[in-house]
Amino acid sequence: MPQRCVGQAPVYVPQRPGGGPAERVVHRVRIGWHIRLLQTWAKLRCTDDCSVGREPMIERITYSDEESPDPNHSNSEPEGMREITEAEFAQSSFFTLCPVAVEYRQIIPKRPEGTKGVQTDNKVYSIRIYWMNMTPGQADGFAMRNDYYEGRMRYYRVGCDHDYKELSIAEAREKGQAHFGNCYHVTECVHCGRVFSYDSSG
Ligand SMILES: [Zn+2]
Repeated sequence: MPQRCVGQAPVYVPQRPGGGPAERVVHRVRIGWHIRLLQTWAKLRCTDDCSVGREPMIERITYSDEESPDPNHSNSEPEGMREITEAEFAQSSFFTLCPVAVEYRQIIPKRPEGTKGVQTDNKVYSIRIYWMNMTPGQADGFAMRNDYYEGRMRYYRVGCDHDYKELSIAEAREKGQAHFGNCYHVTECVHCGRVFSYDSSG
């Protein structure tokens, strides 16, 4: 079937373990209008002629020996775990970025600040963490758990709450980060130092 281009759209390219750029980059893509919604991701074509954008829609989950990027015990809340509302989750990047790993934990919630002694609330929660980035010290992701008794979901962010500040061309190069000028932006998280680069010209 012929491809018909209806324009370009910025798309976040997922970070792939073992390949691709170290940071997510926004690429310009052409989308064939006739492609059914479910196949759109597989059919995206990058105008920069790189290999991304031809990823299959379906990704098989396999077990891995990899360590969690979170240093805490597997019965503890991951660093930076903070609850978000359903609306925040619905408007988050969860559905536009690709998770690089899924982790299952049974956690005992943190004791409230300033309290001591035996934990009176013996609840243990099962959560699934969707890591969007696994770089140690810079990791971030989403987590969710079910509240069986109330019949509802709870949503969380985990890891660093990135706060990106733009680097000038000189600053980026000083840190060994590629900067192509013009519409290219290199930003760095003020908390963890994670670098996020993107091209705004799409
Ligand atoms: Zn950060």
